[in-house]
Amino acid sequence: MSIQLSPVKTRVGPLALVGNTPLVEVQGLGLPAGCERSRVLLKLESTNPGGSIKDRTALNMVRTAEASGELRPGATIVESTSGNTGVGLALIGALTGHPVIIITGQDTSQEKIAALRQYGARVIFADWQAPVESPDNPRAIAERTAAEISEAWRPRQFDNSANPAAHYSGTGPEIWKQTSGRVTHFVAAVGTGGTVTGTGRFLKERSQGAVRVIAADPEGSVYSGGSAGKVIVDGVGNTWPRELWPTSFDPAVVDEFRRIDNQESYTVLHFLRNRHGLLLGPSSGLALAAARRVAAAAPDGSIVVAIAPDTGRNYLSKAFNLEWLAEQNITLSSQLPDVDQLSH
Ligand code: PMP
Repeated sequence: MSIQLSPVKTRVGPLALVGNTPLVEVQGLGLPAGCERSRVLLKLESTNPGGSIKDRTALNMVRTAEASGELRPGATIVESTSGNTGVGLALIGALTGHPVIIITGQDTSQEKIAALRQYGARVIFADWQAPVESPDNPRAIAERTAAEISEAWRPRQFDNSANPAAHYSGTGPEIWKQTSGRVTHFVAAVGTGGTVTGTGRFLKERSQGAVRVIAADPEGSVYSGGSAGKVIVDGVGNTWPRELWPTSFDPAVVDEFRRIDNQESYTVLHFLRNRHGLLLGPSSGLALAAARRVAAAAPDGSIVVAIAPDTGRNYLSKAFNLEWLAEQNITLSSQLPDVDQLSH
């Protein structure tokens, strides 16, 4: 079963609800003495109609391609995605009359797969770790699938300038306005890099270089250096060599990378649920863990804004499932890691 909707323009209806997400302060982070007046704020992207920050990217890529004529009416959208961009594209496709085919990894949560199918997308599974030269690589499958369809469009979010542009024109200005220009640090986890690049670039330009941009990176990702390993924070990190990094990510925008281990990301994620009633995705736990460390090392009175890309309802079978956590060797702690460690 999928929804059947009559086509609408991308500037009306539910798509007009993309963006303008709330900013909420997270207290009780146990910041050390000397930074009690600093504040840590989370930008809650789960209020987007498709449930994640990637609605912004999907919508801007579609609008840009419509405007240039690259995306023709009725053409099939074919994209490889860890899920959230796919849900955004599937929602937009259902509303605008474009069939959608999504190539995703075997590890993508069943909740995201179900959402993709609810919006009518066809889902193809791929080996997410398959190297670029392999025919099993998700992007290779996407290219092949698109080539087999007479009228197909590939958004190629990893190399599409409309991806960071969505954040340069949306997420960045929203944060500036919501903090009345007082934001001092911006923290985001990096997948395609669109969020950190577009938002970070806007905030740096607007503040004349005053805002510091921090990329939060999970265990196993090479963005922050070190060797590639298994990444269990959905939607973020990269295990490919530098020459294959997405061009939607401009590392020059990042002042500092913070590598956070899985234990800490998931402990912070569960803290958010337990103490604040915020059921968010693992990349939100990762970003908040990094933001907490940043706030602990920053001058008193700093305003640290971190991105919470999606809802925890996407991960009830994974991040909030004790069996899955045990399989990943994660032992949740009821205490956040000690503040004394935080400034390191
Ligand atoms: N968190 C989640 C859950 C995501 O799906 C993504 C996108 N893959 C990100 C963070 C990272 O966003 P970006 O692609 O803009 O770097």
